[in-house]
Amino acid sequence: MAEGERIAPGSVWLVGAGPGDPELLTRKAERLIRQASVIFYDALVGPGVLELAPRDVRLVSVGKRSGRHSKDQRAIDALIVEAALAGERVVRLKGGDPAIFGRATEELDACRAAGVPVHVCPGVTAASAAAASLGLSLTLRGLARRLTFVTAHARAGEELDLDWQALADPQATLAIYMGKAAAATVSARLIAAGLAGETPVVMVENASLPDERHFATRLDLLPLAARTALGDGPAVILVGRGLGLAGSANQSHPASAHAESR
Ligand code: SAH
Repeated sequence: MAEGERIAPGSVWLVGAGPGDPELLTRKAERLIRQASVIFYDALVGPGVLELAPRDVRLVSVGKRSGRHSKDQRAIDALIVEAALAGERVVRLKGGDPAIFGRATEELDACRAAGVPVHVCPGVTAASAAAASLGLSLTLRGLARRLTFVTAHARAGEELDLDWQALADPQATLAIYMGKAAAATVSARLIAAGLAGETPVVMVENASLPDERHFATRLDLLPLAARTALGDGPAVILVGRGLGLAGSANQSHPASAHAESR
């Protein structure tokens, strides 16, 4: 889509809304939002982002937060396709980047199966926003050569089925999404797989939003911290030796656990 070109009626854009701060939208995302006739948005889309929508837009919440599924994925797929087939200019706004733990494939497939043109506009993912707030890098020469995005969300009643051996790499940074509920398991399994208990961990809640909070701790203390340190906002858990080197105040004592609000 060239600059200035409009969303074709009857087509769908999966748009990355970023971590919450509307300033972190891409220019393209903002333009698509302003052109939409209908916007289907997730629970994690920041309120400031929705304010950019045109006044006559139809805003439809299809929000999912863990444990509180308001619409299942198939119902969302069907809604999007139906709107496009009715000739709407459809924006499907997703928190962060649509291609990272965003169920983008299901929606892309549903559109394609129905012959609906569909495109993706990327967004700033939560781990990037968290690292930016902490003033640190997720990769680090010699110390963090690998960056792993992993979700610690298990299906209801199922155990977390991750390759712990592969994840317990002292030269990697782990960015754990949807990890608060499983923090105790993550900590125990990573330590059992050989990662040091004193490996620095930073939890970042509501990254980029006014109520953002950070909590620095270490891997063996993560279970307690995840239960008690933060509120009930979305949080990304960053694990790795590189996290001990951040320039922010709480990083001068990476092993001591204390919360810091913006
Ligand atoms: N597509 C999104 C991730 C969706 S999964 C992205 O790229 O960021 C939802 C998880 O993302 C949450 O459970 C949390 O782990 C993380 N997350 C999303 N927004 C966040 C924010 N503002 N601050 C911290 N974590 C966030």
